[in-house]
Amino acid sequence: MSLKLVLGFLCAIGTWASENDTAQQGPPPLLLVSFDGFRADYLKRFPMPNLKLLYSQGVLVEQLTNVFITKTFPNHYSLVTGLYAESHGILASNMYDPISHKHFSVHNDSDPMWWNGAQPLWITALDSGYKTAAMMWPGSDVTIGNRTATHFFHYDPHVTFQERLGNVTNWMLGNKKFAALYWEEPDRTGHTFGPDNITAMGKVLKEVDDNIALLMSELKRTGLWGQINILITSDHGMAQCSADRLIRLDDCLPPDNYTLVDLTPVAALIPKEDAEAVFSQLKKCHPHMKAYLKKTIPDRLHYRNNARVQPIILIADEGWTIVQRGNKLPRLGDHGYDNALPSMHPFLAATGPSFRQGYQLSSLESVDVYPLMCRLLSVPPQPNNGTLTQARCLLAAETCVDVPLVIGLVVGVLLVLTTITGESLNIRRPSGSRPFQRLQVDYDDDDDDPLLE
Ligand SMILES: [Zn+2]
Repeated sequence: MSLKLVLGFLCAIGTWASENDTAQQGPPPLLLVSFDGFRADYLKRFPMPNLKLLYSQGVLVEQLTNVFITKTFPNHYSLVTGLYAESHGILASNMYDPISHKHFSVHNDSDPMWWNGAQPLWITALDSGYKTAAMMWPGSDVTIGNRTATHFFHYDPHVTFQERLGNVTNWMLGNKKFAALYWEEPDRTGHTFGPDNITAMGKVLKEVDDNIALLMSELKRTGLWGQINILITSDHGMAQCSADRLIRLDDCLPPDNYTLVDLTPVAALIPKEDAEAVFSQLKKCHPHMKAYLKKTIPDRLHYRNNARVQPIILIADEGWTIVQRGNKLPRLGDHGYDNALPSMHPFLAATGPSFRQGYQLSSLESVDVYPLMCRLLSVPPQPNNGTLTQARCLLAAETCVDVPLVIGLVVGVLLVLTTITGESLNIRRPSGSRPFQRLQVDYDDDDDDPLLE
């Protein structure tokens, strides 16, 4: 009898312990890493053996369509909120808020009012009972909605990648479910030398690849490799600039006609008096710069519905630089241009127990990364602009719809059916009657369908 009791007690303890383990374990932890300014085609132009080794065991998205404007802060906030810039409110590196009359810059960014329009994943995940950590990710040292990640560091560009990684690894060993890690390269070198400088970019990308090797070896040393999911991505690409491609605002209108909030490659202006008159001057200012009144900014940019979008914005063509005056080129490489440009796109690589192995997608929207991360963590997502439709194809346990393949199959079947029907109708067509036109019309429609391209 007593033996039965003891066995029953041990069984009960065993069951409780395993349930408790399961509750504590939950989904695998997630580490999100951003290498600032990693243009998608660097992967094709430079060796990157360690990054390639990482995604050969996981997945690669060759191009991530990021959000406009293609700057660091808007895009890092989009990655962790799934929102376009007009929805999360971090619209540029330099902003003016007409309601509070406050100014924002990347060096003066800690006022929560700028960030409170959204809730980043390191805060949302707290509500699922998780501990989170963020290492120098833009916004991670700001108190957003009165909360921060469980652990974070104030931004300090002098802290090395190795030091940042060491802290992140320790945090993850300490039962943190989500951690975000930020590194400034290859953006810094891209600005200084331009993305076409093979020597400088080759050197810095070798360093970035060495950092990825360090990340993998550190995760293996601590036993985290294979136990956690890892996403490696970036915020934007980089375009080559030149002193031969300068657009001078002073050539078009006097500087006392407007207040300048941001300059290049997307300028934001507040006209002093007659907005239409200022706009008409700027509209014809330069063939390589487009001017928009706020209400005419194209829908596809998702960059209008926010008070912090100024009355006039100017968008330089790829590789062109807007200055107020003079002949000085501020940077040999820059980003911020139209997010439809491939040179502005970063990539995404991922590996870990939840991902497929050796799978590649040609493209994905960067706002889709947030719902993907929520799915990986089983965290209910906040309202966002993303979707899992394509992103779920990256996951091992999900069935996904390959949209282009399905469209191709449906069109193929329709064509076959139409041909058969047409032929059977042809057989019955009385001689001398007009041939059927429907087949020809269908073919024309298919040729025009952009989805088939
Ligand atoms: Zn940059």
